[in-house]
Amino acid sequence: MITILNDDFSQLNTFLHEKSFSKIFILVDENTHEYCLPVLLGNMETDLGFEILEIEAGEEMKNIQTANQLWEILTEMQADRKALVINLGGGVITDMGGFISSTYKRGVQFINIPTTLLSMCDASIGGKTGIDLMNYKNMVGTFAFPEQIFIYPKFLETLPFKELRSGFAEMLKHGLIADKAHWESLIQIHKLDAEAIVTHIQTSMDIKQDVVEKDFHERNIRKTLNFGHTIGHSVESLCLSQGNPILHGEAVAMGMICEAHLAYLEDLISQQDAETIVENLQRYYPYLDISDFSDESITALLLNDKKNTDSKINFSLLSGIGSCTYDHQCSQENILKSLEFYRK
Ligand code: NAD
Ligand code: ZN
Repeated sequence: MITILNDDFSQLNTFLHEKSFSKIFILVDENTHEYCLPVLLGNMETDLGFEILEIEAGEEMKNIQTANQLWEILTEMQADRKALVINLGGGVITDMGGFISSTYKRGVQFINIPTTLLSMCDASIGGKTGIDLMNYKNMVGTFAFPEQIFIYPKFLETLPFKELRSGFAEMLKHGLIADKAHWESLIQIHKLDAEAIVTHIQTSMDIKQDVVEKDFHERNIRKTLNFGHTIGHSVESLCLSQGNPILHGEAVAMGMICEAHLAYLEDLISQQDAETIVENLQRYYPYLDISDFSDESITALLLNDKKNTDSKINFSLLSGIGSCTYDHQCSQENILKSLEFYRK
């Protein structure tokens, strides 16, 4: 269940009073410690004891070493099966916190309080948790639902612009795959800031929630959420492996440009729709230089994508603005053409 918090966090306090937890562990990174934790602690009313678990900020931390440290700390602090973990942060914190919670002692309860746009509209919803392995994103993880998701949009006020824009990519994706009106209202936004975006968050959350409810285990319609992510994830992984990480939403925006063009090459959408999508994405997102990445290195990563079956690359491709297909296998030629299209 998703709840938008009032300024006094009363719904969170009611939740904490109604459940009988033994202790609270609040997972933060250095930035959410500074910007968000004081707000949470200033409003949280509970008799329960709590501990703060802090990790460094960044995707580089979303790995087994960090998970191991957190499991050890929980053990040292004698967290029992009735402990509650509160994940206060962006997608790295909600992915990591969900993962360690769902595995520690075979699972303790957790709630998500997402603090980035990306985690509000996407990462905190849907019950996917996980960590990266080698240079592959989200290779190890669990399906596990938070007890609750609490959204406090004012957390966005301290979020850096690039992070806001990164989350905006997932919102645009929601419009493109499921709701043309949402896409059209988002592209009316000329100056991307928290104020302009806030009124559109609910629609994006609803789209994600709705898709997940229909297909939790990603057997069919949930795959549409992967639009832009097949090529996007590969480029994100390559950048990470070269020590130049880019933001998830930046990679997804790039992936959506390639995959919109790919949908056109595969005769799924009109040239006009493809051009509209590409032009609008280019308005918000700067060009990503992928000239150093060979077709072979990108294709190798595409072949390792979790969505693949029978060694075939499965794409989720638009079938119009506001609708999306999945398990679409493209010709190798068109995949390479779509990368070439982006490079140009
Ligand atoms: P993030 O968690 O790294 O947060 C981005 C940056 O913003 C960090 O430096 C963080 O410290 C900082 N920050 C967070 N909240 C802030 C605030 N209110 N004010 C100031 N700074 C703040 O990244 P993200 O973009 O939120 O999430 C990306 C991650 O989410 C990726 O690992 C991706 O794989 C994952 N993800 C998961 C799912 C899922 O379904 N589980 C979906 C999409 C993305
Ligand atoms: Zn994503």
